[in-house]
Amino acid sequence: MPRPGITAMIPCYNEIDCVERAYREIRAELVKYEDVELLFVDDGSTDGTLEAIKGFAAEDPLVKYISFARNFGLEAAFSAGFKYASKMWTVQFDADLQSPPHEVHRLVEKALEGYDVVFAVRENRQDPWHRRLGTWAHQTIARRWLGIELPQGASVFRIVRTSVAHKVVDSRLSTPYFIATAPLLGARYTTLPTAHHPRLDGTGKWNLRKLFSHAIELFVGFSFRPLTWLIGLAGAVLAAGAATMALTLAGRLGPVAVELAGLAAALVTLALLLVVARYLVRVMRVQAIGVPRYQIREANIPIRADEALYGYETPHVVGQFREPEVWEDAS
Ligand code: UDP
Ligand code: MG
Repeated sequence: MPRPGITAMIPCYNEIDCVERAYREIRAELVKYEDVELLFVDDGSTDGTLEAIKGFAAEDPLVKYISFARNFGLEAAFSAGFKYASKMWTVQFDADLQSPPHEVHRLVEKALEGYDVVFAVRENRQDPWHRRLGTWAHQTIARRWLGIELPQGASVFRIVRTSVAHKVVDSRLSTPYFIATAPLLGARYTTLPTAHHPRLDGTGKWNLRKLFSHAIELFVGFSFRPLTWLIGLAGAVLAAGAATMALTLAGRLGPVAVELAGLAAALVTLALLLVVARYLVRVMRVQAIGVPRYQIREANIPIRADEALYGYETPHVVGQFREPEVWEDAS
């Protein structure tokens, strides 16, 4: 059986301490396949990561890169990576090698059983307890309470049929939340337990604020249930308010009870306002669809003019973006 074409996609943000070893180790595993490329997405690094990547590209024709005009975040980075991947399958790696590159073969094997996406689930995840708890909690809330379909425990180490990844990136959803979008589109997916290591060097890029807003993004991006619950709650508060008024007028309630009832009503109103405001943000994001979620400053592969900060002045910009050959194969 011919070995499948594979793009190794490596998003990097200030990974100067890891990027060289990541390049060497990922390359060593990938060259076991016939048709491969290593696509680095530099997410606006300021520590010399891009220069290191350009160094690899100067020596190694397998190395492709695109570099963002600023830090746009991991989701923008992998969205660009999936979009510009040119092989039939794309594997997303971590630059810090927390998911060991040698596990790629098991992912490939599993995908070839007939899946569009295989998500690695980290066995003995080597991250701080609050990260593990956070992932478990927000994914469980999403699945159990909000009815969002997603593979529990899925990490960003994954193999994706590139045509499907392209659909996920291009689907006109307000957020490219990959693990929730792929099931929504009907992609055949599964999970596979893989080894996990502590970060090679450098520091993780997620702080509590980012993690929290990432979770909220999932909730409001893929479910309206919080809104309907709160509307129900507001109705109940309205009824309770009317009852309180009637009881107060009848002289059956003391001043403390009345004050407490007022406070409860105010709190519910505030909560409702907060949730409505968050959904409003989502609506505004939906309106912004069509505006590229990143801008590319430079690359060594053809990129779309609308995604290049300097438009046609950028080397490697193509006016009419040519879809990778894989789409023609797939039709
Ligand atoms: N990353 C990125 N842009 C960001 C943050 C992270 O491209 O804004 C990359 C980072 O360089 C790494 C991967 O995404 O290759 C995962 O990041 P990190 O190791 O910080 O996340 P964690 O493993 O803690 O979930
Ligand atoms: Mg990491």
